[in-house]
Amino acid sequence: MILVFLGPPGCGKGTQSEYLVKHKEFKHVSTGDLLRAEVKAGTDLGKQIESLLASGALVPSEIVIELLKKSLDFSRGVRLLLDGFPRTLDQALTLDKMLEDVGSSVHSVINFSISEQELYSRIAGRFSCASCGMIYHDPHMLPEKEGVCDKCHGTEFKKRSDDTAQALSERLKEFEAVTAPLKQYYQDKGILNNVDAAKSVQQIREEISVFIKS
Ligand code: AMP
Repeated sequence: MILVFLGPPGCGKGTQSEYLVKHKEFKHVSTGDLLRAEVKAGTDLGKQIESLLASGALVPSEIVIELLKKSLDFSRGVRLLLDGFPRTLDQALTLDKMLEDVGSSVHSVINFSISEQELYSRIAGRFSCASCGMIYHDPHMLPEKEGVCDKCHGTEFKKRSDDTAQALSERLKEFEAVTAPLKQYYQDKGILNNVDAAKSVQQIREEISVFIKS
């Protein structure tokens, strides 16, 4: 099963992904995570894209697709969750072609809709564990024990370089201009499923469970 998460930055895609990986045997592929890993590793590519990431601008599709291809596993029976890809119509067409070549297709697209105001508040409070990447929010989703990650017990936390009001404004502009039109593309294919991303984590989780059963 190939599942695509579509939604603006901060809408909760990462949090829902964690659940699907832990409890529903999905393999999570986030192009944002792949790109950040390059930056962290200090590769030549990482150095090239670091400022793009920090500004909130999109990275050229050729680079993203090259990285993505290395992480994709289309074997039969694999449950693949794509997060942050596709982000443009061209990327969606490329994905369809890659899947067609292996006799597969996107099964379901979950569209997270949410107001801009809510996104600013979520991004302002978002931070994650520096070792395992578990996502938290101050003050809405803090670790159970202050300063200790619930998942790996790490004690170092970090904020993303693009989780600033300025970069978010850029990312939202990009999203509206080039990513939002994908809703129509997947709607026309009859595979778009909408969730109200302002609801609780648990409510959204239940809605997604229904979509991935059908
Ligand atoms: P994300 O973690 O999905 O919010 O992505 C973080 C950043 O990575 C984005 O603001 C872009 O700069 C870059 N990025 C992630 N996915 C893509 C993509 N499919 N196409 C182009 N740039 C991407």
